[in-house]
Amino acid sequence: MLSEVAKRGVYPLHASRLGIFRIPTELTDRSEIATVMNGLKAPGFKTDSYADRIYVTYTWDETETDPVSQEQLSAQLNVMIEIVTGEVIDVIYQIKPIELFGDLYWVKNYRKKADTNAKMVIDTILWNTKIGDKLLAHYQKSQKLSADDAIKRLDELTPLKQKPISRSSTAPPAAPPAAATQPSLSAAEKPQAEPALAVATTSGNTTFSLTGTGTNYSKVEGPIDKDFKSKRQVTGKFQGINVWGPIDPPGQLGVWGTEVCVDFDICVADGACIEACPVNVYEWLETPGHPASEKKPFMIREKDCIFCMACENVCPPQCVKIFQKGQ
Ligand code: SF4
Ligand code: SF4
Repeated sequence: MLSEVAKRGVYPLHASRLGIFRIPTELTDRSEIATVMNGLKAPGFKTDSYADRIYVTYTWDETETDPVSQEQLSAQLNVMIEIVTGEVIDVIYQIKPIELFGDLYWVKNYRKKADTNAKMVIDTILWNTKIGDKLLAHYQKSQKLSADDAIKRLDELTPLKQKPISRSSTAPPAAPPAAATQPSLSAAEKPQAEPALAVATTSGNTTFSLTGTGTNYSKVEGPIDKDFKSKRQVTGKFQGINVWGPIDPPGQLGVWGTEVCVDFDICVADGACIEACPVNVYEWLETPGHPASEKKPFMIREKDCIFCMACENVCPPQCVKIFQKGQ
């Protein structure tokens, strides 16, 4: 009988395919797929995509001294993980026969190392990328776990993850209370966005709700006002990130960030900045009800910015401004 996976064109019993993990969340949005690929740059994996698949390759070096000739032997090996996107996500890894890399009779425990490295990549995918956000939201919704418990569960599931991003539970429960009765700038409110946002990876505080009741709908033309810091004031924080007002959510969101700054009222959410960033500073943030776009590049890892200016340079409406420290 064909398995669910086989129906999707994947053959789990094929000799070189060893592991298949099905993740019960969907991944179809192209910008989200780009975000996943972006999230794998920092741990140093090579990524590629074709059709509905993302390919993640991890490479490692083997060295040995030949016991007879004393010659230094070296080789570069790799293992590839395939993420099949769609209504569910399948993560598959394959271990190639070692002969494909050459006559490496001297490499010890190749299969075991390849297997561990593949699992390390998968753990990193699950923890560091948007897939992890989705999995956390899934845990919260389907298993009624708190944000804390969902993160704990994911942490336990991914013991081999590399360069883990920080995840904390400043988030609200998966099903937030209705926003209609909330004033738009009330103090100490927790964010009330979609579950994927609720589990965003962050620490810090939040002083307003994105799903406020504001009626001031404001789409602004670019570019960002580069002198905004002398004209605006920080009127709120979102998960620790400064927000420069005026703001009146959901229609007017102001300028976000201190060093990596984006005018959310200009941003049209094409995702160029997210794709360009080499250190994964941004994540998508749902902003339902905003007239320019209903998601924005949230600079949640602003502190990781290396000031390469790539995001500022690629933004079509020029709504990004990078300030070097102290500027
Ligand atoms: S300046 Fe470079 S490192 Fe900083 S957020 Fe933009 S793209 Fe990322
Ligand atoms: S490149 Fe500019 S318009 Fe596009 S998502 Fe980023 S900030 Fe928004």
